[in-house]
Amino acid sequence: MLRRVSPLSKLISAAKPSLLNQGAYGLNFLEAFSTDASKPAEAGIVSKARTPTINFVLGGPGVGKGTQCTRIAETFGFTHLSVGDLLRKEISSNTEYGAMILETITKGKIVASEVTVKLLKTAIESSETDRFLIDGFPRSEENRVAYEQIIGIEPEVVLFFDCNEEEMLKRVLHRNQGRVDDNVDTTMQRLKVFEAYTLPVIRYYSQKGKLHKINAIGTEDEIFERVRPIFAK
Ligand code: UDP
Ligand code: MG
Repeated sequence: MLRRVSPLSKLISAAKPSLLNQGAYGLNFLEAFSTDASKPAEAGIVSKARTPTINFVLGGPGVGKGTQCTRIAETFGFTHLSVGDLLRKEISSNTEYGAMILETITKGKIVASEVTVKLLKTAIESSETDRFLIDGFPRSEENRVAYEQIIGIEPEVVLFFDCNEEEMLKRVLHRNQGRVDDNVDTTMQRLKVFEAYTLPVIRYYSQKGKLHKINAIGTEDEIFERVRPIFAK
């Protein structure tokens, strides 16, 4: 079916609309944090010797965030934190959130910010390093606001790997990592979620002058060479 040249937009509009209407989880999550709103970036992170350096790496499903993050981390000495990996670890260790996370990922939706930001905060605090590449987060404005309230460290750089949807779908379906969400239906949903929820975050950082947009079409080496000057300072 993919080899037919039908535009992805047509494929997407044929996907079940009911999936999209359900939106992201946890829209009322801020209430849960209301008592914390006046004291962002509490204890653990602040008590690190230095405030950690945070960079966000964004882009649609299968665009190559993980692959490029590995190279950037090795070359420039960052700790690579893939929030998708943190969530998958919760599933495999059967924690209290495991079942909910599995259900959300299987549907291609966004896990409640409350859960994600907590996992991210723990990962940052328990790391002995203080320079991070955060891969695949924030995925929505809701994620971003929760991050600002709970962790509150302004990102230095926000990378956006830009690629057309046909190519992203192709890459996801060819990567053979055995992921529950690497199938046509879920990837269509993830592409829609990316457009509806993550693009606004990308626009936000673009307006703040923090966004570095990278053309993600090319070989791994070519793409890495486009990224290199951003960190080679
Ligand atoms: N996910 C999420 N919040 C995050 C990161 C990931 O809810 O901050 C979930 C979401 O369901 C997403 C899935 O985890 O579709 C896989 O994310 P990952 O970044 O691993 O996928 P990639 O974009 O690399 O294909
Ligand atoms: Mg990834």
